[in-house]
Amino acid sequence: MKKKFIFDYDDTLAWNQHDYSYPIVEMLTYILNVLGPKSPNPKTILDLEEEIDMQNVKTIGFKMERFPTSFRMTYETLCQEAGIPIEEKHQEAMYNIGMKAFSEERYKEQGLISGAIEVLEFIKTKGDKNVLYTKGDERVQQKKIEVNNIAQYFDEIHIVGLKSTKGFLDIIGDWDKELVYKVGNSIRSDVNPALEAGIKVIYIPCETWGYERQHNGISLPEKVITLERIDQIPEIYDSL
Ligand SMILES: [Mg+2]
Repeated sequence: MKKKFIFDYDDTLAWNQHDYSYPIVEMLTYILNVLGPKSPNPKTILDLEEEIDMQNVKTIGFKMERFPTSFRMTYETLCQEAGIPIEEKHQEAMYNIGMKAFSEERYKEQGLISGAIEVLEFIKTKGDKNVLYTKGDERVQQKKIEVNNIAQYFDEIHIVGLKSTKGFLDIIGDWDKELVYKVGNSIRSDVNPALEAGIKVIYIPCETWGYERQHNGISLPEKVITLERIDQIPEIYDSL
């Protein structure tokens, strides 16, 4: 009885939230320098950026352009509130700082989470299926897959704008649902849509940015195995 493992990518196979944190710090410093004493305190600036970014998820979704656009809009909003003229050079600088989150060099340098490749190889040696199901901008996710050379470990790769129960059902196909596992870090994007599709979940918590933190908990906790690290999957494999 072969199993099917549906892996998330960001913050499950490779750390990702960290890629955004450095540009956020740089954006903050840049705004403090440009607005000087008219800057609100750092927390106010960070909260505003997150609020704008959450709002932009609704209009721009998970496209690469959203994150740098949110930086630019944060600068514009703060200028308007402080009565300071908006300058094009600063709008451009904000955007460019945001784009640093999508550095190919950084993806390569960071590589995958320790033990992740070994887990993918372990599952292949069992004769099971590995599926990659990742949400995000196709250009960005494709780049991550290429620089880390991981397509070889997967039987199928799906890059989508948003993970959904229907998306899971399409991937499950006619496979026995008792033998299908979602492996992911997010309750909102991985755990609950997978449970709604009727499969089991291996949850390795790494709840990251504002979007992923908006949820009402796990809908069916009895179908969820929670692990601290991805490299524990071989240890629990026989009990699955
Ligand atoms: Mg993730």
